[in-house]
Amino acid sequence: MQLTDATHDPALTSWVESANAPGHDFPIQNLPYARLRVAGTDDSWRIGVAIGDHVLDLQLATQQSPWGEGIGGLLEPLAAGDLATVMALGPRAWKLVREALSMALAEGSDQAPFLELCLLDPHRLEYSLPCRIGDYTDFYAGIHHARTVGALFRPDNPLLPNYPWVPIGYHGRASSVLLEGGTIQRPFGQTKGDAPEPAFGPIRRLDYELELGLWIGAGNDLGQRVDMTAAEARLFGVTPLNDWSARDIQAWEYQPLGPFLAKSFATSVSPWVVTFEALAPFRRPFQRPAGDPQPLPYLDSTRNRECGALDIHLEAWLQTAQMKAARQPAVRLSQANALEAAYWTPAQLVAHHTSNGCNLQVGDLLGTGTLSGSQPGQGGSLLELSSGGKVPLTLPDGEKRTFLEDGDTLTLKAFCEAPGAVRIGLGSVSGTIAPAA
Ligand code: MN
Repeated sequence: MQLTDATHDPALTSWVESANAPGHDFPIQNLPYARLRVAGTDDSWRIGVAIGDHVLDLQLATQQSPWGEGIGGLLEPLAAGDLATVMALGPRAWKLVREALSMALAEGSDQAPFLELCLLDPHRLEYSLPCRIGDYTDFYAGIHHARTVGALFRPDNPLLPNYPWVPIGYHGRASSVLLEGGTIQRPFGQTKGDAPEPAFGPIRRLDYELELGLWIGAGNDLGQRVDMTAAEARLFGVTPLNDWSARDIQAWEYQPLGPFLAKSFATSVSPWVVTFEALAPFRRPFQRPAGDPQPLPYLDSTRNRECGALDIHLEAWLQTAQMKAARQPAVRLSQANALEAAYWTPAQLVAHHTSNGCNLQVGDLLGTGTLSGSQPGQGGSLLELSSGGKVPLTLPDGEKRTFLEDGDTLTLKAFCEAPGAVRIGLGSVSGTIAPAA
């Protein structure tokens, strides 16, 4: 199946020189979107496209440069800071915009003299969430995470019998989805230790979860099931996602209805939306380990078997307050790959979510669940890396960590690399822990 086109050509370069540097997150093959404006101004929000060390301002670009036939109507909402209108239009429109941006930014483009005037310095910008998030759902598709965490909570029965059959999820809280770079205030909560009665106060077991977030483009009507083929066309973009978690609240509250206040205080995403089209060279066959059951027909398709899975490398980095004071760089806590970690593909999550007629809406956010590697030390959370808080990690400067401490900065990074393709980055998502107040 041919997923790639001229916009993915590894030989393609940009007149924006920095985009051609090997290893850059934002080469011309990526072209992610964010909602932004110059910081400290009352300027209207607009959509920008990251290219190398710069951002192409689509409001300026629509004013300053000529564009080809038929593209003006698609750029208009983007110029006005409205990504959702284009997200709702579906893959044909997404492809048209991508092709137009790729040609405009390519080496030799006759738009270059105009668009040069429309490049912004990303360090001078402020960002908003890319669109209004109506609903946020977090899944549990990372099988190694499910197995390791299951063993901590239920040593005799780590993976429940529904796991290979049902993409497990819960409804998260859209209002507390935050942009990367902010502070995460340590929450208060009800927890149960060894004392006979629970207590209420600042939580102690503050954790991160290394996940991918999936941005839903076109939604579906209530009662309309989205089959596996159509599900692909609903997926607009991805972001690294941190599902901040209060493990001590979670352990006490999670039965019988699942996570609630352990999760709803904060979820962080990148301002940059990397599109599913940009991921085309990094699509891989969906495969189950030998002996595992195959999905039921409503979660199966030829396309999904051929290229439903994503080859995305994920990393978690920690810089403590002490490390910052000593000017020591962040240390990598763990790394994993979505291809190995995810038991379900993005299309399967969409098809399952809508299989009862539930209506997804443009701008909805789906978390994949924690994507941990299969090996010890590849856990996508401190809960796993510290064996439930029993075995502290020793950091290079001698500090110990079981869970996050005040002043810690936790950063998630994600990128894609494959032979024959130009590496693309998904940006990063960081947050710094502030004391409970
Ligand atoms: Mn999660």
